Amino acid sequence: MKIETHYSLEDEVYVISRRSESKTVACPTCDGNPPKFADGSSPWCRVCHGDGHVRWAGRNEWQVIVHGGAVGQVKVEAGRDGTKVQYMLDPTGIGTGTNWNEKDVYGSPQEAKAACGQRNMGIKWEKY
Ligand SMILES: [Zn+2]
Repeated sequence: MKIETHYSLEDEVYVISRRSESKTVACPTCDGNPPKFADGSSPWCRVCHGDGHVRWAGRNEWQVIVHGGAVGQVKVEAGRDGTKVQYMLDPTGIGTGTNWNEKDVYGSPQEAKAACGQRNMGIKWEKY
C-alpha cells in the first residue's frame, strides 16, 4: 500500500479556517447620516437608531489563519472508507496542537486566498 500526501515535512503551507467575524458599516437606510433631534435621538432611522452605523455579523467566514507554517508532522489514517490526512505545523504546535485537515491546507497564499473566496460565496452577512 502506497500513500501519497499533498505536502511533506518542512513544506511551507497556508491554512484556511472558518472564523466568525463582525464588521461595522454605514447604516444602509440613512447612509450614515441619521436625522437627529437636539438631544441626539433619531426617531426616523429605525435601523441604526441614530447611530449612523450598524454591525453585521459574518458568521463563519473562511480566512487564511496560518500564513506559511512548516509541516512538522503528517498524520495519515487509512481506512476502508478512505484516507484521512492531517498536518501539524510549527506555528500551531507539533505533537500537541492543532491537526489541520488536508482539504484546508494550501501550498501558497494565492491558493489559500482563492479557496477562501470560493468557499465564502453564498455566506451572507447578517445584521445583529
Ligand atoms: Zn440609520
